[in-house]
Amino acid sequence: MKITKCYNCNSEKHSFYAEENGYILVKCDLCSLLFVENRPDDTDISHMHEQGKHLGDEKLNVTGRFNKSKISEYLPILEDLFKGDKGGKKTWLDVGCGHGEFMIAVQKYFSGKITVRGTEPNEYKQRSAQRRGLDVTYFDLANHEEKYDVISLLNVYSHLPDPPAFLKTLKRLLNPNGEIILQTGDTAELDAKDHLRPFYLPNHLSFASESIVVGILERTDFEVLKIKKYSGLKYSFMKIGKEVVKLFMSGYKSKLLYYLKIKPYSHTTMFIRAKNLTVDTRKTA
Ligand SMILES: [Zn+2]
Repeated sequence: MKITKCYNCNSEKHSFYAEENGYILVKCDLCSLLFVENRPDDTDISHMHEQGKHLGDEKLNVTGRFNKSKISEYLPILEDLFKGDKGGKKTWLDVGCGHGEFMIAVQKYFSGKITVRGTEPNEYKQRSAQRRGLDVTYFDLANHEEKYDVISLLNVYSHLPDPPAFLKTLKRLLNPNGEIILQTGDTAELDAKDHLRPFYLPNHLSFASESIVVGILERTDFEVLKIKKYSGLKYSFMKIGKEVVKLFMSGYKSKLLYYLKIKPYSHTTMFIRAKNLTVDTRKTA
């Protein structure tokens, strides 16, 4: 399916940015959004997610496994986002929760006083999270009736065929004054030569920037409360080892220089906390 319009600003003008796995990543001339121009149709996209599979390149494993160290990486981020403002949150939904590391971090951070539920399309990841006693299933958000105080989506945004539409769906599932925590990259402004690779096309369909995501949130009637940027989550020796290997593999951009702080990469990961400003009057339960 050929995508001609930018989902953020509707411009039809864009320029070639990069190519990977036979997919073309273009940059919107107006707002800088990076998006896949010749993407698979939507049925293939959702199928791909259910399978946890990467269409273009079999050697990339996007299923992964439970990574305990992520929990300790998420805790200080939760503190950055909720410092001095922890109270009143009782229900939390983590969309695309994967193996559940973030759910565990949220439970820990809120001292178990919050009910955390996760939805994950990949069955392998679902089972992995369930084995850890987490409430993880897969359900269609568009037909979901529950409401939550917080909905988080980490590493989900870039997979979405239509992020503005998806945020509207999430909004419907929030309690009045409910909040979303959205994590994605802030990379759309980078030159193609500086962008981290692989892009994982077409598993990733777009890459945004702070101004793009904030703009979409505000147009969806969210108030941005906090934006925290990180220069990549903490690295371990194993990660460094992987990046050394990538130096010798074509098609991969090693983050080694970035890890070693030689190259001054800006803060490329952002967490946005935003509040739902629309009060739903349809249901007062
Ligand atoms: Zn645009």
